[in-house]
Amino acid sequence: MSDQKEVVVLRIGHRPQRDARVTTHVGLTARALGAQGMYLTTRDTGVTSSILDVAGRFGGAFFVEDGKGWRSCISDWKAGGGTVVHLTMYGLNLPDVEDSIREHKRILVVVGAEKVPGEVYGLADYNVAVGSQPHSEIAALAIFLDHYYRGTTLSQQYSDARVTIIPSAHGKTTQER
Ligand code: SAM
Repeated sequence: MSDQKEVVVLRIGHRPQRDARVTTHVGLTARALGAQGMYLTTRDTGVTSSILDVAGRFGGAFFVEDGKGWRSCISDWKAGGGTVVHLTMYGLNLPDVEDSIREHKRILVVVGAEKVPGEVYGLADYNVAVGSQPHSEIAALAIFLDHYYRGTTLSQQYSDARVTIIPSAHGKTTQER
């Protein structure tokens, strides 16, 4: 059986005036830690183009689709055989469910901004807490993806990158092509 994984983030409740920076960072974190794309329930071309600009320079095939209805997104994902993981401080703690989640190869990771509709808790296959304390969707997503991929995506490289960072003990080194 193939070990190929497909992970996409669904960002719910984005408010363009208020959440642009955080949602941009949700997308960049998703891309950097191994997700293939992000659905955004609100239309926000500014956020979409900022993320795609980074992806265009640093490589990979990350997609962003805005104006997506959350209910149909979740039901289509499940109808296609995928698994829905909703990150919420009220859920089961990540260390207790991560082995079970890792058995699933197609994951839709739902993160909120303002209050998440109650229906999402019932539709999700897993409601997962990254510690049972309130913090942030960026932190929760980063830790979830790092656990899901067991840290392997920290060293991922993109062969189509126009800009590549060369790790350096001091200073900033990049290679451009
Ligand atoms: N007050 C909102 C609510 O009741 O749904 C949550 C706001 S919180 C700033 C935004 C998002 O961060 C949440 O929807 C959730 O996805 C994520 N989040 C925050 N703390 C979390 C935790 N401990 N575990 C998992 N996700 C968390």
